[in-house]
Amino acid sequence: FEKIYRDEDVDLSVLDGKTVAIIGYGSQGRAQSMNMRESGVKIIVGAGDRTRHSSWDKAEADGFTVYSIEEAVDKADIVHILLQDPAQPSVYYESIHGHLKPGQTLSFAHGFAILYGTIKPPKDVDVVLFVPNGPGPVTRQKYKDGSGIWGCVSVDQDVSGHARETALAIAKAVGSTRVGVVDMTFQHETEGDNYEEQVLYGGTIHLMRTMYNIMVKNGYPRSFAYAKAIRSIRSIIDDIDAVGIEAYLTSRASRTCEFAVRHSGPRVINEKAMEEIFAETERGIFARNWLQEFSLGMPTLNRMRRTWAESDMEQTGTIWREKFGK
Ligand code: NDP
Repeated sequence: FEKIYRDEDVDLSVLDGKTVAIIGYGSQGRAQSMNMRESGVKIIVGAGDRTRHSSWDKAEADGFTVYSIEEAVDKADIVHILLQDPAQPSVYYESIHGHLKPGQTLSFAHGFAILYGTIKPPKDVDVVLFVPNGPGPVTRQKYKDGSGIWGCVSVDQDVSGHARETALAIAKAVGSTRVGVVDMTFQHETEGDNYEEQVLYGGTIHLMRTMYNIMVKNGYPRSFAYAKAIRSIRSIIDDIDAVGIEAYLTSRASRTCEFAVRHSGPRVINEKAMEEIFAETERGIFARNWLQEFSLGMPTLNRMRRTWAESDMEQTGTIWREKFGK
């Protein structure tokens, strides 16, 4: 079994006296900056033009010293890029690339730009990655609760000979080695993440939507269908994570539920489609489609956002939350 790094395996002092510039203060930027600051790391934030980007004001309100991205890169030992992925190449070549100096570390929270070559760093900097496997607000909340989000680190260029130690120290400062961090390639991190997003998130959300629509079409009350399609899953995931699938099925679920899962569950899954999506992801087809969508101004996403927001299920969800809370 591969090594899982915990707090005791990682030396946070490799960040002593170093300055980490967080570039991008969104979901991950805010959470990681705050966690690292509380772990004793010196953080500065690099943000885009304050008249067009709200990050500057947000980071300042949270007590960080904010600079232009160029200035932050000049002042940093570690440049941690937490911009949204498709925006990274243009910001990188405009404000970061020309300011990097030998010996600095360029760090990412997703391998997309490096794997697909939309960012090509100079050869004299370390290039690493640290990803907490969860949204920023959860990463922040877990840290405050004394826990963390499991994550992974990768090294793409190790000029200093200490790139892995740096990435692991960032992981520790964010709280991830409290629960576990694995070391993997940029390729596996990127494609694994994109595969998870398509199959697990995409599959689960479409399963919820389809289940709701079928139940409502067949005369079920909307509130009941909504609760079945969304709320039920919440109650089982933590249990499965805590005890494992078999123990959940045999000792926590009912016998009817166990039979239903084992008997009918496989028919819901389209394994051929899952294999095809895996192959497309490995061939870079998903990445190409997403970059193309972004460069066109996200027409497909915008259309889907509008139609989904107007859907019967979303409207039921709004009423549900008003009546039953969160
Ligand atoms: P967000 O969309 O939440 O934040 C993006 C940030 O980028 C914002 O601060 C935004 O600033 C800034 N930004 C975007 N365009 C520009 C620009 N042209 N110039 C300057 N700043 C810009 O991103 P996430 O935090 O979700 O993602 C950051 C990284 O973390 C990505 O690599 C992602 O893959 C990775 N990641 C994300 C996870 C998640 O669940 N969200 C989980 C694990 C990894 P402003 O708002 O001021 O414009």
